[in-house]
Amino acid sequence: MATTMKAAVIEKPNVIAIKQVPVPEIGDIDVLIKVKYTGICGTDWSIYTGKYSADKLPLIAGHEFSGVIAQVGKNARGLKEGDRVTADINMSCGTCFYCRQGQKLMCRDFHQLGIHVDGTYAEYVKAPFDQVHKLPDSLSFLAGAFIEPVSCVIHSSKAARVTHGSSVAVIGSGLGVLHGLLARLRGAAPVIVIGSNAKRLAIAKDMGVDVTINIKDGKDPVAEVKKLTDGRGADFVVEAVGTPASYMQAFAMLRPGGTLAAFGICAPDDQISVNPFDLVLGEKTVVGSCAGVGTDWTDAIALLAAGHIKPESMFSMIVPVEELESALKQLRTDPTLTKVFVSTEISQREILST
Ligand SMILES: [Zn+2]
Ligand SMILES: [Zn+2]
Repeated sequence: MATTMKAAVIEKPNVIAIKQVPVPEIGDIDVLIKVKYTGICGTDWSIYTGKYSADKLPLIAGHEFSGVIAQVGKNARGLKEGDRVTADINMSCGTCFYCRQGQKLMCRDFHQLGIHVDGTYAEYVKAPFDQVHKLPDSLSFLAGAFIEPVSCVIHSSKAARVTHGSSVAVIGSGLGVLHGLLARLRGAAPVIVIGSNAKRLAIAKDMGVDVTINIKDGKDPVAEVKKLTDGRGADFVVEAVGTPASYMQAFAMLRPGGTLAAFGICAPDDQISVNPFDLVLGEKTVVGSCAGVGTDWTDAIALLAAGHIKPESMFSMIVPVEELESALKQLRTDPTLTKVFVSTEISQREILST
């Protein structure tokens, strides 16, 4: 087996180097995974530009991935060479207060593959065996690289506990599209997705969302949601953008007694003002959710494998790892792109859907 591998290393903010680095050495409980595809995530942009995990650079980012097991540690149970897999990226100490509470995302030693430790914009990655999930035969490697974002949306959806026949308004048409689909799967009606990207809103419509609102049409989304809910506001609102302004909008379109699912990630020092009078007398609930973890992964795999979530219309293209940096930039400016995957095994872009 080779001892070095090709990797895209974020050396410092706004600098990515394609270079040979050592293949990760696995411990007894680890497996080594030959990476097949990695989906580019907004978090990668934040790491690349130094807004997130800057203290972890140099770092190999990449955390939405699929691959094949290349090597198995001697105490890594239930897995073998050649297994098609992905891995839960969320790792914790297992013994602190939060881990004992079953809240591993709050662990004081919490770290994520490709965000705090080296990830998958490389030929190989290592992961502890108990984080690894096998891909069902019916799941492609591309869909396998999409399990992580689906698991995050499932985590938020479970936290909000959307009920049959309840109205759901989602602000955002990135992962907001998936939030809309999950609300549909939970029996909500009507499901409303609000965004500014016509292509993504069209995909949301195709996936069964009832109403889409394009803010570029000049309509006030708060007024529109109220119009669709007899003037009350939505029973559930999902904020999936991550700006103070859209959080303010989310509160404004939430009905008394409703639940706001906080999903979009703002800057660490962003603030919003909330009217406590309205919060208390309106008995409003706010639920935060950080990432998909544990059973969120098996649930995501089940929904993808059964075809209840068909993400292929969101898949735009695969780029060689050498083009990671240009693809990160292109995703910021090209509104026709949705999900872009990276591969170390190709030399030319492959277009998936237009
Ligand atoms: Zn991600
Ligand atoms: Zn812990």
